[in-house]
Amino acid sequence: MQRDQQVFNIIRKELERQREGIELIASENFASLQVLEAMGTVLTNKYAEGYPGRRYYGGCQVVDQSEQLAIDRARQIFQVEYANVQPHSGAQANAAVMLALLKPGDRILGLDLSMGGHLTHGSAVNFSGKLYQPSFYGVSRETGTIEYEKMLGIAIREKPRMIICGASAYSRDWDYARIRAIADEVNALVVADIAHPAGLIARGLMNSPFAHCHVVTTTTHKTLRGPRGGMILMGKDFENPLGLKTPRGELRMMSSLLDSGVFPGTQGGPLEHVIAAKAVSFFEVLTDDFHHYALQVMANAQAMSLAFLKRGYHIVSGGTDNHLMLIDLRNKGISGKKAEELLVKADITVNKNMVPFDDKPAFTTSGIRIGVPAITTRGFTEAQIPRVVEWIDELISDPENGQLPLQVKKQVNEFMRDFPLYPELS
Ligand SMILES: *Cc1c(COP(=O)(O)O)cnc(C)c1O
Repeated sequence: MQRDQQVFNIIRKELERQREGIELIASENFASLQVLEAMGTVLTNKYAEGYPGRRYYGGCQVVDQSEQLAIDRARQIFQVEYANVQPHSGAQANAAVMLALLKPGDRILGLDLSMGGHLTHGSAVNFSGKLYQPSFYGVSRETGTIEYEKMLGIAIREKPRMIICGASAYSRDWDYARIRAIADEVNALVVADIAHPAGLIARGLMNSPFAHCHVVTTTTHKTLRGPRGGMILMGKDFENPLGLKTPRGELRMMSSLLDSGVFPGTQGGPLEHVIAAKAVSFFEVLTDDFHHYALQVMANAQAMSLAFLKRGYHIVSGGTDNHLMLIDLRNKGISGKKAEELLVKADITVNKNMVPFDDKPAFTTSGIRIGVPAITTRGFTEAQIPRVVEWIDELISDPENGQLPLQVKKQVNEFMRDFPLYPELS
C-alpha cells in the first residue's frame, strides 16, 4: 500500500514542536518510548467487549493477559481492591461512575468550573450538568482554598446523592476525611477525581483518597505519564452502599455496578492497545526512577512558584502543594488569552485559565495555569526553572514588543537542545 506521506509529515512536525518548546500545560506529559510502542501495536485490531475471562468475543486469551496485568499493577500502585482500566478517558471514567451510581435527575455537588473544577463535575454544557442536578462549592476569595464549612452548608441544603472532589486547576491538597464526614451527614457518596495529582498520590507525596472516598477516578496521561486514557479505582468494595437502588433494584457489589457502568453502560470495545500501554506505564510508576521523577515534580513546582512570587506575580492560594499553579495576571494588566498567545509565539506553551471570582469570560480569562510534569520529564530541575520564569516575565512585561517573542523563541529552541526528547525517533 502507498505510504500516507501527508499524515506522517504532520506527525513529524508535531514531534519537532514538542522537542523545541517548553511545555508547561499542567495536564500534559511525555509518555516513554515503550508506552508509545505498546500503543502502536496489533492489539488495536482486537475486539474484546467484556472483561478478562468473560468476553463477548473469541480470541481474547492474549489481550486478557495484558488487561489483567494493567488491573493488577494499578491495584498494586494504589494498594486498592478494585481497578477498571477500560475508560477511554477521564471524562469517560466519570460518565461511567455517574451512570452506575446515579439515576437521571439525581443531585450532585462538585467544585465550580470557574474555581478550578472540571466540566464533568456538573457543568451545564456537559452531560453531568444535563442529566443530573448540579450544585457547586468553591474556594475562599481571601485564601483561594476550598471552603469546607460552606461545602457542608450546601450539602445540607441540596442533599446531593454524590459529592465530587478533585479539580483541574487547584494547587492545594484535599482533606478527603473532612469531605467524607460532610457526605456522611447527608448520606451521599464521595467520588474523588484525581486526574491531575494521581502520579504524586501513587508515590505517597500527596494525601490518599482511598480510605475516605467510595470511588476514585483518574486519567492515566497526566502526572501518571501513561497513554491517554482513564481508570476507575476503589479502596474497598461495598455491597449496596447507602441503600443504592440499581436499575433492577437488586443488591449488587459496587465493583459490578462500576464495571457495567463502563461496559455496556457507556463504552463498547475497550482499546486493548492503550490498555497494554497503561500496563507498561504502571510498571514504570512502580520503579524507583518514577519515585525520583515525582519528587522532582514537587521540587520544580515549589521552585517555579517561588520564582513567580519573587517577580511580583499573584499565585492563587499563594503557592502550591502539587505540580501546578494558577497565576492571576490582573496586577500585570494582561489577560490570560493574550499571555497564552504571547508565550506560544515563543514556543512556551501554557493555557489560559479562569481564576476564582474572575471578571473576564472563559474565552479571555484573567489567568494562566502552569504545570511542571512535562518539563520535569524533559530533565529540568530547580536549576532550569528561574530561566523559564525569566522568559515568561520578559514577555508578559513587554507585550507590545513585536520582536521579543521571536528572540525568546530562538533562545528557547537552543536551550531545549540540551534536553533531548525521544532521541531514538529520527
Ligand atoms: C483532565 C481531567 C479530566 C478529563 O480527562 P480527559 O481524559 O480529558 O477526558 C477529568 N477530571 C479532571 C479533574 C481532569 O483534570
